Amino acid sequence: MTCTGQGLCAELLPELIDLDEWGSPILKDRAVPDQLRTHARRAVAVCPRLALHSGRGRP
Ligand code: SF4
Repeated sequence: MTCTGQGLCAELLPELIDLDEWGSPILKDRAVPDQLRTHARRAVAVCPRLALHSGRGRP
C-alpha cells in the first residue's frame, strides 16, 4: 500500500525517519542499530498503510 504521509512512523522512530515536505518518510540510514530494533519493529507494525518493511518480512 501507499504511505499516506501522516508521520506516525517518524513520531515513533525519529532517530531513523525524517519526513519530507509532503509528510512522506525519509530513512536517514537503512541500517537499524541494535538498540533501535524494537522501536523499528513497532514503527513497521503500526503503519496504517502497511507501507513500511523491515527487510526481513513483517514482524
Ligand atoms: S506510518 Fe506509514 S503511512 Fe504513516 S507516514 Fe509512516 S510510512 Fe507513511
